Amino acid sequence: MREAAVFVSHGSPMSALESGAYQDALAAFGARWRPRAVVVVSAHWETGREVKVASAESQHLIYDFGGFPRELYEVQYPAKGAPAVAERVGELLAAADVRAELDAGRGLDHGVWVPLSLMYPQADVPVVALPVPMMMTPAELVRVGQALRPLREEGVMIVGSGGIVHNLRRLNWSGRAAPVEGWAAEFDNWFAERVKAWDVPALTGYAQGAPYAELAVPTAEHFHPVFVTLGAAGESPSVEWIHEGFEYGTLSMRSFALR
Ligand code: ZN
Repeated sequence: MREAAVFVSHGSPMSALESGAYQDALAAFGARWRPRAVVVVSAHWETGREVKVASAESQHLIYDFGGFPRELYEVQYPAKGAPAVAERVGELLAAADVRAELDAGRGLDHGVWVPLSLMYPQADVPVVALPVPMMMTPAELVRVGQALRPLREEGVMIVGSGGIVHNLRRLNWSGRAAPVEGWAAEFDNWFAERVKAWDVPALTGYAQGAPYAELAVPTAEHFHPVFVTLGAAGESPSVEWIHEGFEYGTLSMRSFALR
């Protein structure tokens, strides 16, 4: 069966410990879709132009955040790596003239383990992590996703993990349920409408064409994993919104699957 191309907004690292509609939605999705392995492009791993591919069989967790409660540093997520899938990712990228290199020393950063611990709490789906190559344009990242598309036929889910609206300077710390700010909702809606219309050129041109793009995407690392997801999706896919909503007034938690 063909696996989905997925994007998950992971929000705050505390998402791993909190409960609510977002957590329930990811858990329900994971219960329905259990791939042979999952390839995750994480906002919390940045490279320049090259794509690294985490290839170890056993992977340590990276607690790449500061100032959170101790219990967050005690989370365990002992998912295995998938060296054969990592090799296959390397082959597919090389065939598409994308510079790729296996990295046997990389662990799982919180962009990987936060959403996966909600989707697959038993840690029984092997994981291959990929970085966001920050020097690639959105269109180049779409081509990376296109190169990885055959994996979906091989039982591998492709996941971008980041955020559709992610501006840490504009969070409302009064609480997760703070009222949603208009500009954030407008960018998030613009994004959702373009995905529904499958207008990939508009999406890759978001910096010029989207409302409030500079506020919603002050830096690329959380938004750009979505372009790998879009590229992996194929032409005019069906869209399943796994979860829509905001936390802290401006942090979009929009997560979706394309098939
Ligand atoms: Zn993040």
